Amino acid sequence: MNRKAECGCGRLKVVVAGDPQMSYACHCDFCQKSTGSIAAFGAVYREEDFISFEGEASVFSEFRNWPDAKKHFCPVCGTTVHWVNPEAFPGMRMVSIGCFADPEFPGPAVQVQTKYRHSWCGDFTGAAVSKEFS
Ligand SMILES: [Zn+2]
Ligand SMILES: [Zn+2]
Repeated sequence: MNRKAECGCGRLKVVVAGDPQMSYACHCDFCQKSTGSIAAFGAVYREEDFISFEGEASVFSEFRNWPDAKKHFCPVCGTTVHWVNPEAFPGMRMVSIGCFADPEFPGPAVQVQTKYRHSWCGDFTGAAVSKEFS
């Protein structure tokens, strides 16, 4: 099963094959600020599972603590659609789960950086709380 993820204006798209290897919710303050949300949701795919890339991405790499990470975002609407973080996830590329806009998309398997979690944000169904990256 192939799935399409795209930015808010539809100019930047990726198509991936199958389910992600894993997925996560990160509550850290960097993810909160860079997404403007209270957590970032990433689906982790192998690079070889990407079927196509469409549209021109801008890239930012001011990832705290991860000098080789690169977020690919739409220069028109600003949505981050996919990114790499080769130190943390070698050979993998992450896709913003929200960009699938698919209510049936598998939820995050793990929650990290929960010390930053908002007091009113509960556990996500089925997502273990990481002890290693709390
Ligand atoms: Zn866009
Ligand atoms: Zn984070």
